[in-house]
Amino acid sequence: MRNHKIQFKSKLPQVKTTIFTTVGNLARAHNAIDLSQGFPNFRADKELMTLVGQAMEDGHNQYAPMPGYYGLREVISQKIESLHGTYYHPETEITVTVGATQAIFTAITAFVGKGDEVIVLKPAYDCYEPAIALNEGIPIPLELKTPDYGVDWVAFEALITPKTKMVIVNTPHNPSGRIFSKADMLKLQQLLRDTNIILISDEVYEHIVFDGQEHESASRFEDLASRSFICASFGKTFHVTGWKMGYCAAPAALMEEFRKVHQFNVFSVDHPTQRAMAKYLQHKEHYTSLNAFYQEKRDFFLSGLANSKFIFKPTMGTYFQLLNYTQITDEADEDFAKRLIKDFKLASIPISSFNVNSRDDKVLRFCFAKKEETLIKALTILNQL
Ligand code: PMP
Ligand code: GLN
Repeated sequence: MRNHKIQFKSKLPQVKTTIFTTVGNLARAHNAIDLSQGFPNFRADKELMTLVGQAMEDGHNQYAPMPGYYGLREVISQKIESLHGTYYHPETEITVTVGATQAIFTAITAFVGKGDEVIVLKPAYDCYEPAIALNEGIPIPLELKTPDYGVDWVAFEALITPKTKMVIVNTPHNPSGRIFSKADMLKLQQLLRDTNIILISDEVYEHIVFDGQEHESASRFEDLASRSFICASFGKTFHVTGWKMGYCAAPAALMEEFRKVHQFNVFSVDHPTQRAMAKYLQHKEHYTSLNAFYQEKRDFFLSGLANSKFIFKPTMGTYFQLLNYTQITDEADEDFAKRLIKDFKLASIPISSFNVNSRDDKVLRFCFAKKEETLIKALTILNQL
């Protein structure tokens, strides 16, 4: 049996194992301090874990309703309305998902078909394009302007064609930390008005925005909201990326299509965790405190780099900081990232893997969602370079 080689044509011939998995494995093999993949290395709130345990004890161990536990959808609806002033009906307009990844995958699958064009801003988080390709859509990349990663809206407008089915934006943006201003969102709204283009607004870092700036959710803008899937992640917000839970919100007609796929993709999401989230989310300070919490970490990390050879601008949001290393070496970012792991025991993400044609901006991405002691160790290494 083992000798029989099955013939098949790959549906994703260009796709390799994700950079997060490859770099993470290398980091573990070399026992490196890991600032690569985006996850916190400190514990989540004990109260949240106790709530999950209680939900299990209380017997919520069977399938949750297909779109999610209603009590959780109600609190999500209240959260969005209080933060952004837009009401989403918990029954028809909110679905709980297996992280933002599944929300994005399902929304793409529900709408993108053969030959449909999807505008993606590059560098882009890596889960968008394979999902588009699997559905035989065509990713249309727009490169963000370096070094600030702002959008050239004139260039964006030029990419819109009758074939444009969808646009994917991500604010705060991974990997650059750039956030869309109100002016950006208004421009996007103006350009999409009078079209049938659907927007995926990936807002997983909605609660990690710095220097008193506001997160401008697409849900705040009436015409954008009418065409958008707003995708969010409890993993990112509550320091539990391993729980893989998130949600998306969209107008009822769009959500109806989304659920046609969702019900056969996962059917429903971990039930005890949803019960716990429904209680935990009632306390606004659990998410409103996050900006200040991560700003302290960002500022600590950056003050430790003041005398290093890296060139950087403080990240505007997310828990990632880009560092330009042109004053240290002219190596390709992948080579430098590998050498940092092997020779200096420090892991980061080379962002060429998110760029068009692996464009190399000579910057590495560092995740500062780490304990202070971890950041101190990383800073010691970074200052030696
Ligand atoms: N979008 C972006 C921009 C991300 O950085 C991530 C990683 N958290 C995701 C989506 C996926 O989120 P989740 O882990 O909730 O699936
Ligand atoms: N969002 C995480 C990051 O950007 C990665 C999650 C994953 O590995 N899929 O680091």
